Amino acid sequence: MVGDDATKTHNQNEKEIIDHNSPLYLHASDYPKQMHVNEVLTDKNYNDWEQEMMNLLFAKNKSGFVDGSIKRLETESEKYLPWMHCDAMIKGWLTTAMEKEIRNNVKYAKTATEIWQDLKERFGKESAPKAYELKQAMNNTRQDDTTVSAYYTRLRVLWDEMETILPTPRCSCNGCSCGLEKKLTELKEKERTYEFFIGLDDQFSVIKTQILAMKPTPKLSTVYHLVAEDDQQRMITASKKPAREVAAFQASFQGRREPTRNSQEKGWTKTEKRHRFH
Ligand SMILES: [Zn+2]
Repeated sequence: MVGDDATKTHNQNEKEIIDHNSPLYLHASDYPKQMHVNEVLTDKNYNDWEQEMMNLLFAKNKSGFVDGSIKRLETESEKYLPWMHCDAMIKGWLTTAMEKEIRNNVKYAKTATEIWQDLKERFGKESAPKAYELKQAMNNTRQDDTTVSAYYTRLRVLWDEMETILPTPRCSCNGCSCGLEKKLTELKEKERTYEFFIGLDDQFSVIKTQILAMKPTPKLSTVYHLVAEDDQQRMITASKKPAREVAAFQASFQGRREPTRNSQEKGWTKTEKRHRFH
């Protein structure tokens, strides 16, 4: 057994070697039963639970303990004990947030990663068919005369879902100083920009060309704002036109918007595909 004095010494040592920006840093207010999720894990809500828990862990700079990017340290490492303390804390957070029956099944897991993997194997949906389904849905999503923001939101939902089943790989260097994660994120944003462009209505072809010519390629959020702004500009210009033209515009506009409800649904299921970059 470790006595109180010995524990105190350990904690003091840990404070000295662990910077508070390090994932190995535990805040004085952290305790194993503190993690509150909307719903504890049952055998029916794994995907939502996993996503929420990952967000909580990420907010606490601890996601590396479950996604495998923070490896178990050797016993000789001076950071071995801090690592053990963190891992034990996260095991506490995970097990507190699950039904008793599931908790009993994971209590022999040695590390937080083992618990995470075990849950994924038991409750995680088969990801390949689901990923394929999502990719198809992305290919078939079109603006189809809806607003830019409504169209973007539909894609966003698909992208987020894809991210939970095929997450962007994490780099094994802690905190990724090598730049790999940044590169991967940029690549993903580029791919999403193209997906966004492919389903946009034809009236945006000019702004599309302009954005594609920009160097470096802007971030996805910037791309969205540029297109949304273009959309708004178009509305304003249209409303400033002389009355007769406005009436004509509105007539054609309404004519155009008329089939929106049908085409909105069609946007999800249309099998006809435009040429895609990939
Ligand atoms: Zn890295």
